[in-house]
Amino acid sequence: MIDTLRVTAEEATGLLERREVSATELHGAYREAIAARDPELHAYLCTVEHRAGADGVPIALKDVISTKGVETTAASKILSGYKPVFDSTVAARCKDAGLPLLGKTNLDEFAMGSSTENSAFGPTRNPWDPSRVPGGSSGGSTAAVAAGLAPWALGSDTGGSIKQPAALCGVVGLRPTYGTVSRYGIVAFASSLDQVGPIAKTVRDCALLHRIIAGRDPLDSTTVELPEKIEVPEAEDLNGLRVGVPVELNQAEGIEPGVSEVVNRTIELARSLGAEVGECHLPRSVEFGLACYYLIAPSEASSNLARYDGVRYGLRVKADDIRVMYESTRREGFGDEPKRRIMLGTYALSAGYYEAFYGQAQKVRTVIREEHAAAFEQFDVLVSPTSPTVAFELGARTADPLAMYAADVLTIPSNMAGLPGLSIPCGLSDGLPVGFQLIGRQFSENLLFRAGHALERALGFDFVPERLK
Ligand code: GLN
Repeated sequence: MIDTLRVTAEEATGLLERREVSATELHGAYREAIAARDPELHAYLCTVEHRAGADGVPIALKDVISTKGVETTAASKILSGYKPVFDSTVAARCKDAGLPLLGKTNLDEFAMGSSTENSAFGPTRNPWDPSRVPGGSSGGSTAAVAAGLAPWALGSDTGGSIKQPAALCGVVGLRPTYGTVSRYGIVAFASSLDQVGPIAKTVRDCALLHRIIAGRDPLDSTTVELPEKIEVPEAEDLNGLRVGVPVELNQAEGIEPGVSEVVNRTIELARSLGAEVGECHLPRSVEFGLACYYLIAPSEASSNLARYDGVRYGLRVKADDIRVMYESTRREGFGDEPKRRIMLGTYALSAGYYEAFYGQAQKVRTVIREEHAAAFEQFDVLVSPTSPTVAFELGARTADPLAMYAADVLTIPSNMAGLPGLSIPCGLSDGLPVGFQLIGRQFSENLLFRAGHALERALGFDFVPERLK
């Protein structure tokens, strides 16, 4: 019997190598776990049969990742029924590595949201407490890993959609350096920010999966080759590591005291493992990051979502006239949040307001990048809580978009600067997981993995939700 709640992808690889289990049996064990627990959680939008010849550890993919012949909806009605005729590069790389697909995971429609409640197909629930959200937008992927419904998964992160749900579900998630993972075949939200990344139970699993997906792709001209190979981390100390604690990120309004406490304890632990810890500042990044993001991301989204016209993909509402067809398809196909973003973005990009809004936001983005660069002259990694709060109750923020947007206040600034960020679980507050965010320089994934692994070892966080034991 395979205990899918506990087994890591690395351990599962060992079982396969020693032939203690076959790839079909392993896939089957996860399918059984899904059948037992997913009706309550709804982490998956669809599941698939084991593919002959795929002899590796199975994987779940967020449903913005195009998979040849397997429905890819971005959790939107407008894409329902759409089966891509090609694989995204990340799906192809997983296939080439022999990883069988388990299924496609739920998300906020078009990855717009922080709770997975914006899915057109119903929300996902948090395995730690099903009355609470798993975070979002990659909440299906993080809930699947936390509940033992997948050993590892891919998510995508624009403003925090890997890091924040990883934090709320007590799993590890990496948002890679912008440009290091291909976006070819990823349903586009905000192209200057979108990045696919790994989600797993351990930092080592994340590194193993990242090694498979990262690197230059001729099909995405914004990608570059990694300057160094991804290493699976081993070191158990932090000797010589300079850890910066940005005051504004650690004392931002809305951080729950229970979250601060667990994070501060983790910072002390870093010190005891040999790190040199000091304070630094990111005042403008934290003050203006969210506002800047909510101009740039909707602007890019309004342009990217123009392609859903009822002609090329998914839903078409029949009408006699092309314009009526187009309007009715978009009216019926998009949920409230994508509509809100399309309106915001179209407004910010309109001729009379372009400079005042979009142009200004781009300038602020440069300031954010410079502020981070200055902090990295003194420090190797910057740390903070990943999310200001632990998982909140379903429905608690759905009526208030600004409260929902605030869930990403700590993840957005470094994303705007194109930097990589790792979230690891660092403890519990009120019985719910708290995430610790480690931000690095561009291309410093190996250092983040190394630091994350050493902390993870010392923390000894038990990633199995209490109620599932
Ligand atoms: N919550 C943020 C938003 O709604 C970030 C989403 C994401 O990273 N995809 O835009």
